[in-house]
Amino acid sequence: MAEFDVIVVGGGPAGATAALRLGQAGVKALLIEKAKAFPREKPCGGGLSSRVLVRFPYLKEVFEEVGVNQIRRVYLESPDGSNAVHEQPEPIMHLVRRWEFDAALFRRAAAVIPVEMGTTVRTLTVKADGVELEATDGRVFTAKMVIGADSANSLIARHAGLRVGEARDEFAVDMMEETPVAEMQAARPDTVSMFLTLTKTFGYGYIFPKKDHVNLGFGCKMDYYLTELRGKGKEHHAGWVDEMKAKGFVSGETQPAGYKAFPIPISGPLARTYADRVLLAGDAGGFVNAFTAEGIVYAMTSGDLAAVAAMQAVKAERFDTAQLASYEKAWKAEIGDDLAHSVDIQKRLFNDSGRIDSLVRAAGRDARLAELFIGYSMGASSYEELRGYMLKSSVPKWVMGRVKSALGFG
Ligand SMILES: Cc1cc2nc3c(=O)[nH]c(=O)nc-3n(C[C@H](O)[C@H](O)[C@H](O)COP(=O)(O)OP(=O)(O)OC[C@H]3O[C@@H](n4cnc5c(N)ncnc54)[C@H](O)[C@@H]3O)c2cc1C
Repeated sequence: MAEFDVIVVGGGPAGATAALRLGQAGVKALLIEKAKAFPREKPCGGGLSSRVLVRFPYLKEVFEEVGVNQIRRVYLESPDGSNAVHEQPEPIMHLVRRWEFDAALFRRAAAVIPVEMGTTVRTLTVKADGVELEATDGRVFTAKMVIGADSANSLIARHAGLRVGEARDEFAVDMMEETPVAEMQAARPDTVSMFLTLTKTFGYGYIFPKKDHVNLGFGCKMDYYLTELRGKGKEHHAGWVDEMKAKGFVSGETQPAGYKAFPIPISGPLARTYADRVLLAGDAGGFVNAFTAEGIVYAMTSGDLAAVAAMQAVKAERFDTAQLASYEKAWKAEIGDDLAHSVDIQKRLFNDSGRIDSLVRAAGRDARLAELFIGYSMGASSYEELRGYMLKSSVPKWVMGRVKSALGFG
């Protein structure tokens, strides 16, 4: 007999959101998290696009609690040094520290469902009448079903047979440092700066000025990280920080001891995000924007939708794939197109740095194009709006032709 109806593995944004929804509905659920306590470390830029407040209005209260830098200005730079700036009265992004943000989400979840901290799930076994989760300390937890929200290296995804294949092709590695402003300062604390294609393969760099910290990071495809950088990610990062200092974007010193590298899924959601008695949410299911690497809003959205599907399964007392397919239908309806387009745009842009130059140059000449492109990247403008505008832009037709083909509108 299963102890719980639902077990959520992983207490990051995906798992905490799922747990909160299950707990508020009174479902007999348990949240298992390997960290001993929150706050816990999570390497991340902590950039949330403003849409997150529409989807989860209670985050307004969370932002007040944790301290946030609201960003109204974005600077884009392409490989040949072309740039574009977009500024607007309403916030484009909200920058938080994951250390504080995740702890605030976790506290809300832990107030409504039981949690097992410091517990690492080692195996998942799916049986005819439920799931068994064995922890590294030998304890076994049983439930009617499980929501895997256990990050990019998800054990639940692998043990359920949902993530197979070569990780190198499906992940980027993001290398970053978060430094207090007493030691490193951004020249423009009101601006997020994005540098596209650092490595002539999939690549980007970013400067995210938080309220009291500055994040400097860059990402590249995992195969590039493992071959070209060959364990020299930290040196490469330090070189990039020096370049940013020389160009005047930042001043002061970073804390190299705070350097961290962590994988991000960049191939869109897995081919299947559910199996008998199993749902995957957040990075575990590949729910990350493959172009911008924004993952928190998708983690929270997929976590919430997974909880709703789990509640329907508990009510119907059915946990088979036919029942749980409702989850995939729900996330496809809400974020499916967005994530699919992000994979397409990433492949087009990062396979040809000339396309990025054309796009950024065109955005530098046409303020509305810059607004729509940045808005589209942050979920504030639709694909159709951006596409429709291309037909009217005053940028020369041959330039716009390159931009359209870069974005897949050709
Ligand atoms: C360097 C970097 C920068 C990024 N910048 C941004 C950004 O600016 N904005 C943005 O939106 N996204 C960003 N992302 C992506 C974002 O961090 C992720 O998409 C997001 O954290 C996914 O949330 P999650 O809940 O799925 O996973 P996580 O936040 O990774 O949480 C998973 C949790 O599961 C726990 N866990 C893992 N395995 C087990 C186990 N076996 N048993 C028990 N518990 C387990 C972990 O301890 C962790 O607490 C960045 C990613 C990286 C690597």
